[in-house]
Amino acid sequence: MTQDHSPRALSRRTRAVHSGTRRSQYGEVSEAIFLTQGFVYDDAAQAEQRFIKTGDDEFIYARYGNPTVRMFEERIAALEGAEDAFATASGMAAVNGALVSMLKAGDRVVASRALFGSCLYILQEILPRFGVEVAFVDGTKLDEWRAAVTPDTKAVFFESVSNPTLDLIDVAAVCEIAHAEGALVIADNVFATPVYSKAIEQGVDVVVYSATKHIDGQGRVLGGVILGTREFIRKVAEPYLKHTGAALSPFSAWLLLKGLETMELRVRAQTAGAQEIAEALVEDGRLPKVIYPGLKAHPQHALAMRQMGAGGTVLAFDLGSKEAAFRFLDALEIIVISNNLGDAKSIVTHPATTTHQRLSEELRAELGITPGLVRLSIGLEAPEDLLADIAAALDVALEPAEV
Ligand SMILES: *Cc1c(COP(=O)(O)O)cnc(C)c1O
Repeated sequence: MTQDHSPRALSRRTRAVHSGTRRSQYGEVSEAIFLTQGFVYDDAAQAEQRFIKTGDDEFIYARYGNPTVRMFEERIAALEGAEDAFATASGMAAVNGALVSMLKAGDRVVASRALFGSCLYILQEILPRFGVEVAFVDGTKLDEWRAAVTPDTKAVFFESVSNPTLDLIDVAAVCEIAHAEGALVIADNVFATPVYSKAIEQGVDVVVYSATKHIDGQGRVLGGVILGTREFIRKVAEPYLKHTGAALSPFSAWLLLKGLETMELRVRAQTAGAQEIAEALVEDGRLPKVIYPGLKAHPQHALAMRQMGAGGTVLAFDLGSKEAAFRFLDALEIIVISNNLGDAKSIVTHPATTTHQRLSEELRAELGITPGLVRLSIGLEAPEDLLADIAAALDVALEPAEV
């Protein structure tokens, strides 16, 4: 029943709408939500057979797989150009699953230090508890990778664009360094988004997304996905994931499938908005530093263009102090204070006191997460309305004492 349109032959936008579709005997247009935990067998022998070897369009138990979840996995795999995928209940279940499924005591991992708080927790707190050695590097410095990736390194982990300071990892160069020592490369690719990602082409072995971000893009559900070779997904990741309960809900999978259909239009519009707003803020001249990889002045602009072809949906800037940052957040009227990103609604975050509160002050300083840093995820509102909102909030934020 799977609609097999050899994914690589079709353009990305067509894959986003059709890949992975499985129609029931009713021929429904919109993908069906199989809200079922289990599946009935015709007879005992069929049940026995399915437990020995589960075929392509056969299911046993929703913790192992489900038709709606499978549609989402096949569609995102076709978009990413990956052989296979396993969907998870959240982005963190995907990050944890990708790492823990392949590591054992005595292994070494090298990771970029600029990580999302929960990713840092897995690498810094959980893995060492089970005897995995983790070395951290400044991911933007290739000589630090070269020095840290030793012949006994099993895996390399990074966020291809770091949160919230938007530093880029040179993906192709780090993959080359890792592969020379036989290490597997796992990339958390949330900020690059599946729209601008060429991660597999650039050498990444395992790509991880929080589907909560641009894939849903409408603030409705949590989800995640691990993408890689069929060998990695089925032989390494799946046994760990299906026995430890990371399964994505079929209902969430359905929302994510629908999210994929419009993702490219949303992400491109949001990126165009982010570019326009970043440029307008530079023009405005009141902010000492506007961080956006799409700006020519960004120190990694050339790498961003080569690697993603765009600056993405998030920008950041420094208001000089926590007090000014708070005044800015509180004065916004359209942009909401929250900690998601990639959403249709524009969202402002103060990383130092929320998403990155757990980090030590020294590490925050080292990563450039200053008390005045504000992260803006640009949504689908009209850029001119967002700019007016931002300009008015800057009037309030920069007013007292500091000007
Ligand atoms: C949000 C996020 C995650 C975690 O995803 P959840 O869906 O919230 O579990 C992991 N990595 C990055 C870079 C993120 O932005």
